[in-house]
Amino acid sequence: MKIITTIKEMQQWSKQKRSEGNSIGFVPTMGFLHEGHVALMTASKQECDLTVTSIFVNPLQFGPNEDLDRYPRNIVGDEATCSAAGVDVLFYPAVQEMYPTERNTTLLATQRSDVLCGASRPGHFDGVITVVSKLFNIVLPDVAFFGRKDAQQVAVIEGLVSDYNFPVEIRAVGTVREEDGLAKSSRNVYLTEDERKDAVGLNKTLAFGKHLVQSGVAGDEAERRSIAYYNENFQGEIDYLNVLSFPALTQLNKSDAQCIIAIAVKYSKARLIDNIIFTR
Ligand code: AMP
Repeated sequence: MKIITTIKEMQQWSKQKRSEGNSIGFVPTMGFLHEGHVALMTASKQECDLTVTSIFVNPLQFGPNEDLDRYPRNIVGDEATCSAAGVDVLFYPAVQEMYPTERNTTLLATQRSDVLCGASRPGHFDGVITVVSKLFNIVLPDVAFFGRKDAQQVAVIEGLVSDYNFPVEIRAVGTVREEDGLAKSSRNVYLTEDERKDAVGLNKTLAFGKHLVQSGVAGDEAERRSIAYYNENFQGEIDYLNVLSFPALTQLNKSDAQCIIAIAVKYSKARLIDNIIFTR
């Protein structure tokens, strides 16, 4: 596996490989890799000739009081994970390489970004679409793979690709979970032992809410009852729990067939998110 740290070399590699007729699959990550990330790499390997993974903890998508400084890192382990997964190139740029000067322009996420994580993390999706645009122009992929665990991120990125005609196809890969249903996340290492046990509550509450909606309960009532269910049985602090249409992420109407139930919970050192996308 090749490790590339500069934008120039990354672009040159991709241009060369594309000119030789290879398709390039791309898996952007923030590192501290786990089986969820590996599932994206596997999907890319299945569909594309070559796979590039990036590791970049993007300062722009963290708010001032968020966990940028203590976001978990393990580049040595991540290299081994990428290599074992059959990744061809690991793109691992420094912050100075990605943002050397003050930017001249700003991208703003204006649709699907005022709910869920967009509402509780102002500016987060502006940072996401900025870095994803840069990475697409650096890695020059044919196909890019994102996790459904961040379903709102996938929806916002699909909007970005459509607005700016990026010649990239977006694939969404299902959420990889621990045996008890907890979605795998780099941030799970920050749970205490008790919190780790409690964190099964996210997925359990989503399943509870999904069942309500599928039995005909209206979205707002399902939200209220799911929040009550979580608070009766689990200890974390709910940041949001919403039932929305998918992929529009608007308030659920009777005519919407596809729904998402999404939750964010704050523990002492980690904020976890999860969702289920389903049909009524
Ligand atoms: P992150 O490193 O957390 O920014 O995630 C990088 C990519 O991996 C994103 O597209 C995530 O949605 C995806 N991802 C993270 N956790 C999981 C998971 N448990 N299952 C599937 N994909 C995931």
